[in-house]
Amino acid sequence: MIVEMITGATPEEIDAVVQRAKSLELDVQLNLGTDKTVVAILGSNTGQLPTDTFAVLPGVESVTRVMKPYKLSSREFKAKDSLVTISGIEIGGKRVVVMAGPCAVESKEQLMEAARAVKEAGASILRGGAFKPRTSPFSFQGLEEVGLELLAQVREHFGIPVVTEVVDPHDVGLVAKYADVLQVGSRNMQNFALLTNIGKSKCPVVLKRGFSCTITEWLTAADYLLAEGNNQVILCERGIRTFEDSIRFSLDISAIPVIKRNSHLPVIVDPSHAAGHYSLVPAIAKAAVAAGADGLLIEVHPNPKEALVDGLQSLTPSAFARLMEELGSIAKSVGRYI
Ligand code: PEP
Ligand code: MN
Repeated sequence: MIVEMITGATPEEIDAVVQRAKSLELDVQLNLGTDKTVVAILGSNTGQLPTDTFAVLPGVESVTRVMKPYKLSSREFKAKDSLVTISGIEIGGKRVVVMAGPCAVESKEQLMEAARAVKEAGASILRGGAFKPRTSPFSFQGLEEVGLELLAQVREHFGIPVVTEVVDPHDVGLVAKYADVLQVGSRNMQNFALLTNIGKSKCPVVLKRGFSCTITEWLTAADYLLAEGNNQVILCERGIRTFEDSIRFSLDISAIPVIKRNSHLPVIVDPSHAAGHYSLVPAIAKAAVAAGADGLLIEVHPNPKEALVDGLQSLTPSAFARLMEELGSIAKSVGRYI
């Protein structure tokens, strides 16, 4: 249930709404907007509660039931676009923010080379996996804490923030110590223990869409992060499973405008895992920017032939630099910049 306060509602009036909800053993989340405060009343039995429970209180303008399963990520709760700020870089504003780097951290040399290349080409955040959720237990699983240390060293050297995946709910504190942004992988989108711990950490997070999950399930997963008070949430469309097997996954381009309509959260696109092949990445990346994506997450490897993971879909530094040039004019045509 969403309680919208009148413009200029007093702190006492807002508190009365909060206290009323608490007396009914319901949870609340406040969106202290610039002109109007919105109070989300959360709990499994709000459906039975008459809207008058809150409508009668002084300072309340309207009470609406949100019929969708997701609440805090909805536009009903927050009409204005949310901005996520990572070391001064805003995601969700006019700039299309590019995060790029190797699928996995393999060595200091590899990461240094990748960081130099992506930064030079205009990327503002370095990606690199230290914990790799692999489909097979026999595949390379990442350098783990050694990989995190390398990410921290390279961040220091180039002054570039880093995004890296956390797989185990118990590792959230460890990964958050090294990373600027935590990534929740597609296979973990509904790992609710992981989401809750990341929510508690308040660390900025990229929440990838589960490749067999609907947009509603994705936004409801985002609510797990928001419910813990972490509002630094970035959604990432990375392709879904369809009957089409000529590419690795099918990028759901329509997810971008659907998210923009239904949610206030920024949404970025990972063209690499959707494409599965380097030759398809540029077209998908350009389409994403044209469709309104707030950023891109792209795999770039200094030497894709030697990559331990996802070499086939990784761009070389020169292909990435070319793509960045091309993205500039696409962004401009939709009123953005790279
Ligand atoms: C990745 O970003 O390297 C990755 C494993 O992606 P996804 O979770 O989307 O498969
Ligand atoms: Mn990968």
